Amino acid sequence: MILVESPKHLAAYAGCAFVPTMGALHQGHASLVKRARESGKPTVVSIFVNPTQFGPTEDLDRYPRTLDADLALLESLGTAAAYCPPIDALYPEGIAASMQVASALALPAVATEPRLEDLCRPSHFAGVALVVGRLFDQVRPASAYFGEKDYQQLRLVEDFVATERERFGALEIVRCPTLRESDGLAMSSRNRFLSAPSRAAALALSRALRATHMAFRPADAERMMRDELTKSGLAIEYAVVRDANTLLEVQTFEAPTRVLIAARCEAVRLIDNVAMPARDPTKSKCPFAALFGFAAPSE
Ligand code: AMP
Repeated sequence: MILVESPKHLAAYAGCAFVPTMGALHQGHASLVKRARESGKPTVVSIFVNPTQFGPTEDLDRYPRTLDADLALLESLGTAAAYCPPIDALYPEGIAASMQVASALALPAVATEPRLEDLCRPSHFAGVALVVGRLFDQVRPASAYFGEKDYQQLRLVEDFVATERERFGALEIVRCPTLRESDGLAMSSRNRFLSAPSRAAALALSRALRATHMAFRPADAERMMRDELTKSGLAIEYAVVRDANTLLEVQTFEAPTRVLIAARCEAVRLIDNVAMPARDPTKSKCPFAALFGFAAPSE
């Protein structure tokens, strides 16, 4: 595996399969790399903790950095190149000026209207769009792999690329499913900050998502989730059912929806989501297996 630090040395990788990350890699990231490797193209993984997507009160300085372990994992996965740029390789104008550039970007509606991450983290998606666009410009991949774990981010990237076809060419955005621990907790770089009691309480997110398969209407599902999260002492930012494409509010399960949660477990902010397939309005339950890929113990 080649370690690349300057965009000048990326030319050889144009047309690659690309996985952008912020490092502190876990098996969820590894699943994206494995998926990229399946394309048969050389795989490039970037590791860059992007300052422009962190708000002033967020955890940029505390964000975990485990570069040696990350590089060893990427090497073991058969990655062709790890791109680890210094900040000025992506932001030659400096961070303050690049934040200005980010705030002037015209973002797709899915990043501004749902009032989910866009409301909780107001400048976050502008920073994401800026860095993803610049990484794509530098790496010039044929395909890029994003996790459904960050579902609103994934939808933003899909729409951003679709509206900038001249800039990004035929770049394909590939959706990758969320990898979970065996007890259901979605893998995340931030899970390492959970104390033992918080780690147990954090299971309320996947439990709440699972509970929604019993709901008849989105409003019922939202109430069930709030009950489950509150019972475990989590501070809810949102726990909602939305249109799977626009992420706007819905009244029924007749079209595909996405069930999304953001909640704080002590100081750790956790997000998770599942797809809810469209369902016949005369049937009250969604098959559990359709949500999590395995049958419920009682089914
Ligand atoms: P991050 O390093 O957190 O910016 O994540 C880099 C990529 O990995 C993003 O596309 C995430 O959605 C994806 N990712 C993070 N956690 C998981 C997970 N548990 N399963 C699958 N993909 C994930």
